[in-house]
Amino acid sequence: PYKNRFAGKKVLVTGASQGIGEAIALLYAEEGAQVALNGRDEKKLIAVRDKLPKVDGGEHVIAAGDISKEDDVRRLMQKSIDGMGGLDILVCNAGYQIPSPSEEIKTEDFEGVLSVNVTGVMLPCREAIKYWLENKMEAAIVVNSSVHQIIPKPHYLGYSASKGAVGNIVRTLALEYASRGIRVNAVAPGAIVTPINMSWINDPEQYKNVASHIPMKRPGESREIADTVAFLTAKDSTYITGQTLFVDGGLTLYADFEKNWS
Ligand code: NAD
Repeated sequence: PYKNRFAGKKVLVTGASQGIGEAIALLYAEEGAQVALNGRDEKKLIAVRDKLPKVDGGEHVIAAGDISKEDDVRRLMQKSIDGMGGLDILVCNAGYQIPSPSEEIKTEDFEGVLSVNVTGVMLPCREAIKYWLENKMEAAIVVNSSVHQIIPKPHYLGYSASKGAVGNIVRTLALEYASRGIRVNAVAPGAIVTPINMSWINDPEQYKNVASHIPMKRPGESREIADTVAFLTAKDSTYITGQTLFVDGGLTLYADFEKNWS
């Protein structure tokens, strides 16, 4: 029913070489958008581009670069805008985490996670917003946060801090630009089937353990996150800004209370 929802729209997806970012890029292309794919590995991005349906009147763009580095972001934003002939939607999806007991966390690991998950959101948002203001355009941003925006994640201090920050980046930018037609929201996934989670997904014991903590008793699919990202940038959501939408099978509902405590 949604077949051409994004026809004529130009979308940049960061961290699109695999996992949720790849699913987001695929959904936009399936619904008629032209997509710019960011990630650090150009070969992987080309492989993703080859899987996307072709777009009328243009080509999907490879916009490789490190999203936490200012020079890279300026260059890849320009390449995206030039290559697509504009930009309507920015999806800040790139992110990563490094595990460590917090008493042993290495400063460079902590700062590394913050630089990708926080600075790597600020930089493309800044460049896109500048472009939209100069061109007096209406536009939308979605940032990929996590349930760990609100659920603590021991052993992942940098990740927890970064996703908490994302919630406030979205609310602050939403307020700053609401009157100028730019909407800014976040999606906060729970446990999703992606390459980084395959170790527990393929282990029946671990899978059972993870699923038992999720009220819907299963991990989510990347496509279910992509569906929500699309919704937050489509005509279906034109009055929504500054929100984080949790897409987690009920994980943030304090699952233990399901057992009818009195
Ligand atoms: P993934 O590791 O499969 O993909 C991450 C993508 O980001 C890759 O394309 C990677 O190349 C890219 N990336 C990492 N650092 C980058 C950098 N410096 N510059 C450019 N690109 C970079 O991860 P995923 O599971 O698909 O996660 C995507 C987003 O979803 C992340 O922000 C993550 O925090 C969030 N998330 C994932 C889950 C989950 O269960 N998978 C749950 C909650 C939130």
